[in-house]
Amino acid sequence: MKRRTFLSIFLGTATLLTPLSVGRWAQAADPVKAEKVAGKSAAKKSKPPVAPFVPGSWTIAIMPDIQHYSTYYPGLTRLQTQWIVENKEKHNIVYVLQNGDLTNHNTPKEWKRASRGLGILDGVVPYALVPGNHDYAQGNAKDRSTRINNYFPPSRFQDWPTFGGTMAPGHIENNYHLFEAGGIKWIIVGLEFGPRDATLQWADQILKKYSDRKAIVFTHAYLYCDSTRLDWAKKEKTQQGNPHKYGTAGGVNDGEEMWNKLLRKHANLFMVINGHIAGDGLGFQVSKGDHGNLVNEMSVNYQRQPLKGGAWLRLLEFRPDGKTVQARTYSPLYEEHKTDEQNQFIFTIK
Ligand SMILES: [Zn+2]
Repeated sequence: MKRRTFLSIFLGTATLLTPLSVGRWAQAADPVKAEKVAGKSAAKKSKPPVAPFVPGSWTIAIMPDIQHYSTYYPGLTRLQTQWIVENKEKHNIVYVLQNGDLTNHNTPKEWKRASRGLGILDGVVPYALVPGNHDYAQGNAKDRSTRINNYFPPSRFQDWPTFGGTMAPGHIENNYHLFEAGGIKWIIVGLEFGPRDATLQWADQILKKYSDRKAIVFTHAYLYCDSTRLDWAKKEKTQQGNPHKYGTAGGVNDGEEMWNKLLRKHANLFMVINGHIAGDGLGFQVSKGDHGNLVNEMSVNYQRQPLKGGAWLRLLEFRPDGKTVQARTYSPLYEEHKTDEQNQFIFTIK
């Protein structure tokens, strides 16, 4: 990592640190995690190799929960977006997704930082975002009041050729994007945290309208780190972070409800992506829709890692065969990949 870049991460930090000392700094911040990091280093030799980027692939870059960067380390968001801009050509990055929790407490200061960080992408790489629970009320999602539209109003996106529209004028919370990549037409639909019934009805219309496009839905809370959908009715006691827990005014739907009311019905849907989840934050399963289509469901969130996420990005590389997707995990802070099976794996579009 360039020294200049690193300095920009820690505003007000005058000490010059080398990349090696970045790692030490991160470990010093949490002795328990430091042990784990040390253990990982010892096991480094046996780590699987980094999967090669296959020429002709195109990429969706996912920025999992950035809420703590907006509070503590705004430079990490900028580091992620700068890396995306600098590697746009090399990785053929076509779209960026931010899965919600852009802020921790929905404060103007945090929103300004998130806006500045993502703003590096403006006019360079299109991105889509949705609000998470921390972007509502005082960060507790007791209702759906949010400052997201003060900083990311639809007018910020509306001139992009790939921007489809929103559910409600002046509200970015539910939005869709249309683009072509690898010779295939795609739609990305972004849904608010714990979407309301009316939101699912809107999404149903959008997915029907664009049934000729392969669809990705992303939202803040959907799949849990046990690799099953968030399901309040059956798993209230064993899954944390279910939208029903927050008592959000106006009602919510959890993962299982989204699946049954909306997602399973659409033959063109092949993927659902979410963040939010604690623990290791990582989950993946494949479900079969009513029309026999396979739906890849993936949760990704690194906020429990050192430095509240360590700038880890999830990259989805869609290979030129039109059906193979390489998931990869990279941090522009550490300039390293995670190559264990939860962070580097292949799935298929059928
Ligand atoms: Zn969350």
